[in-house]
Amino acid sequence: MRYPAATWRPGPPEKTCYPGVRIRTGKGAVLHSMEGPLSAALGELDKLDRRASWHFSNPKSGPLLQHYETEAPTWHAGYQANCAYIGVEHEGVAGQPLTEVQVANDVALLRWLAQQEDWPSFSRHATLWEHNEFMQTSCPSGRIPWARIIADLENDMSEQEKIELSLRKAAAGLTKLLADLDFQKVANAMKVYLGVVAQ
Ligand SMILES: [Zn+2]
Repeated sequence: MRYPAATWRPGPPEKTCYPGVRIRTGKGAVLHSMEGPLSAALGELDKLDRRASWHFSNPKSGPLLQHYETEAPTWHAGYQANCAYIGVEHEGVAGQPLTEVQVANDVALLRWLAQQEDWPSFSRHATLWEHNEFMQTSCPSGRIPWARIIADLENDMSEQEKIELSLRKAAAGLTKLLADLDFQKVANAMKVYLGVVAQ
């Protein structure tokens, strides 16, 4: 799928997928820092001998650029993550906070992806990831203001979505409590319930 608010700027068609893996299967996104300007990152994207690709580039100003269909696995955070998650690169380097435009682009994109793919929540280490959580790297160099992004995402939810989110949070808390008490069967049942809610 193509994100309607992004500018379509395709990457080389060779730089996507793996043998036998043509569709991404997870629900979530991995955020990155380009550690340079947009022009340099696009240059790397276009190099056929550079084994790196990603779905979206988020520039300091202006709309997102989309390089691959959201279904396609791209090459941004290692095999496991690539088979599961969307990759989003951010223009700029370590020490530069995201611009207001970049934050707004991220919030709008993540909301749209969540709607398209029916994400269960906006949660770190569940649907929202950093590159360094999959491999040895400093990327995205602490540049992602997660608390603000998640607050903006949750503020824009409908009342029904807010109720469902609270229920999921309550159920997750209960599941943890039961697991700690070693009521394993009950905990497993709650996990099934969470899975049903997440569909
Ligand atoms: Zn990265």
